Amino acid sequence: MSELVYTLIRKKSRKRVAIAVLPCGSVQVLAPIRASVSRIKGFLRDKSDWIRKQQLVCHAREQAPILTGNSGDMLLYFGREITLQVLPGVKRSVGLVGSELVVGMREPDPEKVKKMVLKWYRELAQEIIEDRVLIWSAHLSKKPKQVRLKTMTSRWGSCSILGNLNFNWKLIMAPLDVLDYVVVHELSHLVHHDHSRKFWDFVALLMPDFKRHVVWLRENGYRLAL
Ligand SMILES: [Zn+2]
Repeated sequence: MSELVYTLIRKKSRKRVAIAVLPCGSVQVLAPIRASVSRIKGFLRDKSDWIRKQQLVCHAREQAPILTGNSGDMLLYFGREITLQVLPGVKRSVGLVGSELVVGMREPDPEKVKKMVLKWYRELAQEIIEDRVLIWSAHLSKKPKQVRLKTMTSRWGSCSILGNLNFNWKLIMAPLDVLDYVVVHELSHLVHHDHSRKFWDFVALLMPDFKRHVVWLRENGYRLAL
């Protein structure tokens, strides 16, 4: 490992050495007052792979899609990239044409275009996710009471104790098999309400290769943004 630049913060109250990779990519080490430099360096050496990975994720995050409401915006749709195309001088409309999301507006205004794009995504997500829940729940003896779409910042889905399922509409930007994994995960909570061994066995029964979707979400989740 090449010499790593890091900020060292020593605190009386700390018992152990800990590392944080901050936005964007800088490393902070929190250490007890008396921790020796060799102990800190050894810890950094042990964690070097993890630090590098965090730094990569951090740099990639800077390239996450940003919706500005102008032609040329890159968006994700079922895991593939599509381009926003704003057509001035036409009736208000929105639709996918090949790999372009075409938004028509008499006098385009980026804020209004953004609203239309978000609405289009949410409506599509509602339709697709409800459909996928219906398909996958055929394998279960239990059915969800309600399926709701939400804007969640750090979760892809959740299952309430009453049997209502919530999904992050941004899943519509992920490949369909990844979206399906989240559907299967939340549906499985209708049977097992925890993340026990039994729960994961149940998920694997419905979707034997689910682990690669967990990895995909962990590595690409930040890209499902607008
Ligand atoms: Zn869960």
